[in-house]
Amino acid sequence: MRKDRDALHPSPNLFDYAEERETFSWERARELLDGLPEGKGLNIAHEAVDRHADGLLADKVAIRWLGKKGERRDITYRDLSAETSRFANALRKLGVAPGERVFVLMGREPELYVAMLGTLKAGCVASPLFSAFGPEPIAVRLAIGDGRVLVTTPGLYRRKVAGIRDQVDGLKHVILVGEGEAEGPGLHRWNAVVGNAPPDFTIAPTDPEDMALLHFTSGTTGRPKGAIHVHQAVVAHHVTGRYALDLHRDDVFWCTADPGWVTGTSYGILAPLTNGVTSIVAEAEFDAESWYEILEREKVSVWYTAPTAIRMMMRQGTDVVKDRDLSALRFMASVGEPLNPEAVVWGVEAFGLPFHDNWWQTETGGIMIANFAALDIKPGSMGRPLPGIEAAIVERGEDGGVEVIDEPMAEGELALRKGWPSMMRGYLHEEERYRKSFAGEWYLTGDLAQRDADGYFWFVGRADDVIKSAGHLIGPFEVESALIEHPAVAEAAVIGKPDPTLGEMVKAFVTLRPGHTADEAMRRELLGHARKRLGAAVAPKEIDFRENLPKTRSGKIMRRLLKARELGLPEGDISTLESDEK
Ligand code: ATP
Ligand code: MG
Repeated sequence: MRKDRDALHPSPNLFDYAEERETFSWERARELLDGLPEGKGLNIAHEAVDRHADGLLADKVAIRWLGKKGERRDITYRDLSAETSRFANALRKLGVAPGERVFVLMGREPELYVAMLGTLKAGCVASPLFSAFGPEPIAVRLAIGDGRVLVTTPGLYRRKVAGIRDQVDGLKHVILVGEGEAEGPGLHRWNAVVGNAPPDFTIAPTDPEDMALLHFTSGTTGRPKGAIHVHQAVVAHHVTGRYALDLHRDDVFWCTADPGWVTGTSYGILAPLTNGVTSIVAEAEFDAESWYEILEREKVSVWYTAPTAIRMMMRQGTDVVKDRDLSALRFMASVGEPLNPEAVVWGVEAFGLPFHDNWWQTETGGIMIANFAALDIKPGSMGRPLPGIEAAIVERGEDGGVEVIDEPMAEGELALRKGWPSMMRGYLHEEERYRKSFAGEWYLTGDLAQRDADGYFWFVGRADDVIKSAGHLIGPFEVESALIEHPAVAEAAVIGKPDPTLGEMVKAFVTLRPGHTADEAMRRELLGHARKRLGAAVAPKEIDFRENLPKTRSGKIMRRLLKARELGLPEGDISTLESDEK
């Protein structure tokens, strides 16, 4: 690999996958980054911000913030360096020690980004929360993470934090952003403590293994886990941004995820900045019209979003896209849930470009498997492992070990060979749970997949969600994708429901596109469609219509909740539940 900061591969879309895999090493990838001056280690904030702050990129827009009310604010790399230094100085002045946790609870406003990066400069650990969380999920996470500092707004503090202060003894300081009343111990105003702090800060020596980020998982399968990531994870953020998202210096990049979800941090903050691109931060929630407006007006060239948003866009059809001038857009990627083949095809119809699916987890810290620009897409496949990543299909043995299954299209657990820089270093305070995710050299992902003869990986389902019906193992994704092919279906979620003869029977929950009626005729039609597509053994036996499906804040369908409700069982941990209808 060349030490060429402008191009890991020389022009968009053109790197030789086989050759790159062959020659890649994480040691050499590390050389693409600067490290702190005088060999003082690797600090994420230095790589993302400070190293660009004096050079050619100093006056380039690092973050273009688009506020809810139409406000715009451009923050250059130089400005971002100064603001994050102020924040780091403010933490020092408050007596916050390196390694202590700084939580952020606020909407996607500039201060959120300044606080996260400033925290990393100070050697403290940044932990972002969704601002839409209620008091209980906030209290639980602050307690697990032993949060010392919380950055939030007066309104959020009054509504969500004031009442839980007695559950979080360790929380010494709350930094309030913006106007509004709030009362409580250790409250400070941003303008007073950060605004007045000096804009210069020298980052202390940082060990590549120092803890940097504490990220909670989405809680799709149960109680969220706090995954620990270290400073050298930035090597993975940087190169995955190039390989999988094809970031190049001139790009205007938009990641639609909130930093409360790992995607919104690794790719909503870090990867675009280390790569020196302009990153769009849009405060508003999803709305197809305004999203298309942003793509057009801001001339977004690389766009990273999620299946749930894509399915919502699909509901609105292609006409609204075609009226727009989206000629700047050259690459689109998706993550978070399986991307139905239908959605890839729709991308081409609507934008003239496919969505490139990619797969990763909070635990992996960065993209692991992707449909690269350089590879042909097989719609419905997650793509192939990144250079530096070895993925395999394995079977767990009785002795706690695993066996690699080489046979093409065999179904098994997706595993990754340990050793990439952004791999989690632990689940905070859950040593046992962490240990159980490994077998020898392999990290076990909890997802089931297949690998085809060309080396492409296909998602089958989460191990917890797989259905056993009359001796067949059925992945919900396959059934859901078949249902979505029907023009009336917007979204589908499939569960296994206990059945005396079959063991489990396949039951589907479906939302319809506008203009279709949820009646008996539609039910029969969809049952018939699925049977034709999948065969009687795999097709759902029951279909229920819903106005919407229960989802996590990060937009993932919570099948376990549909199942618990169906069976009248306790709902379990629903702290991350977003949209809902019983
Ligand atoms: P929890 O671990 O708390 O149950 P979660 O697994 O949903 O929540 P995340 O780390 O946000 O938390 O999500 C990672 C998971 O999302 C993956 O393990 C996988 O199940 C799913 N996922 C992500 N990307 C894809 C994809 N491209 N295709 C299929 N599934 C995906
Ligand atoms: Mg998970």
